[in-house]
Amino acid sequence: MGRLHPEPEHHLRTPFQRDRDRLIHSTAFRRLEYKTQVFVNHEGDYYRTRLTHTLEVVQVARSLARFLRLNEDLAEAMALAHDLGHTPFGHSVEEVLDEWMSDSGGFEHNAQGLRCVDLLETPYPDFSGLNLTYEVRSIFTKKASMSELTRKGYASPKSTRFVSGPARPILEAQVVDLADGIAYNSHDIDDGIKSGLLTPEVLSEASLWKEIWKHARGADESAKRHAAVRELINRQVTDAAEETERRLHSGPPSPAPKPREGEYPPLASLERVVDFSAPMKQAESELKALLRTKLYRHPQVTRKMDRARRMVRDLLEMYFAHPEQMAAQFRARVDHEPVKRVVSDYVAGMTDRFAEDEHLAFFFPGALVARPR
Ligand code: MG
Repeated sequence: MGRLHPEPEHHLRTPFQRDRDRLIHSTAFRRLEYKTQVFVNHEGDYYRTRLTHTLEVVQVARSLARFLRLNEDLAEAMALAHDLGHTPFGHSVEEVLDEWMSDSGGFEHNAQGLRCVDLLETPYPDFSGLNLTYEVRSIFTKKASMSELTRKGYASPKSTRFVSGPARPILEAQVVDLADGIAYNSHDIDDGIKSGLLTPEVLSEASLWKEIWKHARGADESAKRHAAVRELINRQVTDAAEETERRLHSGPPSPAPKPREGEYPPLASLERVVDFSAPMKQAESELKALLRTKLYRHPQVTRKMDRARRMVRDLLEMYFAHPEQMAAQFRARVDHEPVKRVVSDYVAGMTDRFAEDEHLAFFFPGALVARPR
């Protein structure tokens, strides 16, 4: 469906390959290395960050896309982009931003992802944004309606076609969405056990894990864990591939409801094509529920998240009162844009460690900030 600013095609690379390359070279992508997935960056070099999570999503999405004979380059580009709008320290800080922005449209990471690729990245002289294809951008609109996006601060002069998602997310977007869940269920189990916050026994309350753990073989606990996590990914990917192929062969899905005036029904209300079989879906939600109560709500995790929330609240108030403390390209925007939205963009783009350093520098002036500034 093209790009907002028309460009001649490249004679060697397809449009989706070019989008992939633009994403890899973007600032927001490099910052994923220092953004929390579940474990805060400085807790250990072993744990997943948002960057390694993204790479695992890319890998699963490409496997599924290739097997289903979808556009692998498109799926790859979408997977690389899917988490660009996340704040430092993950979901709990996203809630802080949404609360803080509640009188100014709110905050949501998919809408923020769209702001990143359309407005905040500025590698080109003639327009802001990466000028990605409509199809790749639709990874951000897969869950939101036009009015939701506008409310969440995606005020864009661009045409509706370039803001709203398709009536039903295209298959590659559905693949990435599913791959996202497969990747984080598996790596959160891996990191959770490694960190000692979870045990294989506790996880065995979920039938799928119980069954896999029973048959996992390894010379020691850690080898056994690797084998089990590998098997968990394998089972989920294989199930999704086979179930989706079965659905594709059993005829077209029932037509998606017709959009009214730029209003699209949310993904949850639509019949999905790319999905698990019913038993795997059941097993997967069991695992997810267990991870929620035993890992994401573990006191050691929530303690760090509470600390991060307080830190980010301080920073938001501080930049709002002193916009001159932001980086130059953000300072320049406050004359012609609402200060709150500029501050929200600035803080949302931060890495965990940059936010921590800024907080130390402003609120604990006696503390040494080790990294060069
Ligand atoms: Mg993700």
